[in-house]
Amino acid sequence: MSTQLVPSLCPYCAVGCGYYLVVEKGKAIGVEYMTDHPACEGALCPKGNAVLEVLNHEERLQYPLKRAGDEFVRISWEEALDLAANGLARNIKKHGPESLGFLASSRCNNEENYLMQKLARFLGSPHVDNCARLCHSPTVVGLGAVLGTGAMTNNLIDLQNSKCIFAIGTNFTEAHPIVSRWAQKAKDNGATVIVADPRITSTSWMADLHLRINPGSDIDLLRGMMKVIVDEGLADKKFIDERNEGFEELLANLSDFSLEKAAELTGIPAGQIVKAAR
Ligand code: SF4
Repeated sequence: MSTQLVPSLCPYCAVGCGYYLVVEKGKAIGVEYMTDHPACEGALCPKGNAVLEVLNHEERLQYPLKRAGDEFVRISWEEALDLAANGLARNIKKHGPESLGFLASSRCNNEENYLMQKLARFLGSPHVDNCARLCHSPTVVGLGAVLGTGAMTNNLIDLQNSKCIFAIGTNFTEAHPIVSRWAQKAKDNGATVIVADPRITSTSWMADLHLRINPGSDIDLLRGMMKVIVDEGLADKKFIDERNEGFEELLANLSDFSLEKAAELTGIPAGQIVKAAR
């Protein structure tokens, strides 16, 4: 059987880098870089490069296991499906279909998640959830209220066009390593990188200004920066008028706040907050 290159996506983070799996006799034996992939341009971080270790790991779960005392024993797919179906049927009979809950994984693709909710509805249960909702519902609500959409408003590649990158609450060089390539391109083109993080991280290494705020003082830093922007007349009034709402409420919120207070709460000297805001 000849070697095949199978296009695939790295499953380890939301960047979704592409690569080819080198498949021989039905087994992945190597990784080839996908140089025309828009998000990664052929690059992979260490997690993506190690994908074969997980794929071919001897402890990877590849068949159903059933608990037998303190151990798990291998069973056939037929037996596993019968066990699951009988368990669901038993509970429906005893407690009704609404006693069932279905929790899907964010490791599942769209089609698998769709089928999971179809199964739940088919059996009569409204209780369907997904771990992505549990993780991301606060961000979806927050981003929706602030930006009008519960996701990024631009693509990752646009990062390279930034004049200033302000990273707060993120360590993207570790969490989404390939993102840092686009941020680095922006920096190479002259962009200023500001990182607010109590810790020294690989993201803070690339910062022009690292604000080592006290843990939990992110909001105070943002309020301090907004105070400077408002007081120094740096706000883009036209942009605010055209695209924003609630600006008067924001001004009222900032009226009893001061740069000195922000410095005290964040542990960042006032001069650095001013520098970041400007
Ligand atoms: S950045 Fe790394 S972990 Fe994320 S998708 Fe790309 S290779 Fe995978």
